[in-house]
Amino acid sequence: MRISRLLRRLRKDFQLSIITLMGLFGVLGISPYAVYRLLEGNYLVGIADSVIVLSTVFAVVYAWRTGDTVKPGTYLAVIFSIAATLIAINLGINGLFWLYPLILFNFFMTDPGKALINVSGIVAALIGYAHFNPGAVFESDYQMVSFLVTSLMACVLTFIFAYRTRSQNDQLQQLAIQDPLTGARNRRAMNEELRIASALQRRHGNGYGVLAMDLDHFKQINDSYGHQAGDQVLIQFVELIKSSSRKEDRLFRFGGEEFLLLLPNTDQSGLQAAAEHLQVQVNAELRGPGGPVTMSVGGALLRRDEHWEAMLQRADECLYQAKSSGRNCIIIADEAGAPQQQTVD
Ligand code: GH3
Ligand code: MG
Ligand code: MG
Repeated sequence: MRISRLLRRLRKDFQLSIITLMGLFGVLGISPYAVYRLLEGNYLVGIADSVIVLSTVFAVVYAWRTGDTVKPGTYLAVIFSIAATLIAINLGINGLFWLYPLILFNFFMTDPGKALINVSGIVAALIGYAHFNPGAVFESDYQMVSFLVTSLMACVLTFIFAYRTRSQNDQLQQLAIQDPLTGARNRRAMNEELRIASALQRRHGNGYGVLAMDLDHFKQINDSYGHQAGDQVLIQFVELIKSSSRKEDRLFRFGGEEFLLLLPNTDQSGLQAAAEHLQVQVNAELRGPGGPVTMSVGGALLRRDEHWEAMLQRADECLYQAKSSGRNCIIIADEAGAPQQQTVD
């Protein structure tokens, strides 16, 4: 049971599995050297090896405990890079083979730019050392040039691969959270961000509010002028709300012509003012083929220790009341929970 949970975590978290794997390689690969050097009486190298083994174990445990893989990953990349450079300097050509898997490890652990700088640094350090200590690392200039060319080729090719993977990943992530028609965030993103907002409120007491907005008589636009005309109104609406709200506010499309604006750092009067401002903008600017298009708004604030779904439910009830009060109006639940009506002429 426990083992299957560990395996599932390894399968899901690529960085964690690479850190664990490198941790295992590090411990299994370096511990015998540490013991050997200590027995041999070479205490300096023995202690250095032991420090590497212990800090590797520490980094792996830290990653498993905290779930943070960035810090231990960078740490391991730096430690192994220093170790590989020292080994190459000590063992000469036999130590250089270690550099190639290290190049891959660097690109697995940090972003492509940082890894490129890191690996170029190692290669430059080795070449620099070899230049001032002829014969210490390479047996000939020819060997040095071969090493330089092959390591740089490995580095550039891995960089291209890592960069491409990263940008494809970013694109996929963007597609997963975006509504393709309007470019607003989708429902999946909404649930995730509301969950985060709820956690932040519990931890730091940040105030959050939401405005649920629904276009009035939208079906008539579709029925009279076609679906495409309706689509254009939705696109225009999203542009308008985005440009009329604050940068930190998040807009989600959570139904056909229903949108949710999540407003961080807001209170009752802030939420009210934001809703009024948006409605004035919509009344002034939003036009369908048949004339002005209006919206109804329901709003609510996230209360302490409540689930975000409860806040959505309150905003939705207010929106429903705004619809039944004649549309083109705002109703915001007050902090005690009772709805308050506000009509914009
Ligand atoms: P109300 O004022 O009560 O909100 O009336 P309404 O007509 O706006 O609301 P209703 O829920 O009856 O209709 C919503 C319409 O939105 C129905 C559906 O066909 C249309 N719709 C949903 N998604 C899209 C879309 O992506 N594009 C277009 N053009 N229309 C859509
Ligand atoms: Mg509607
Ligand atoms: Mg609707």
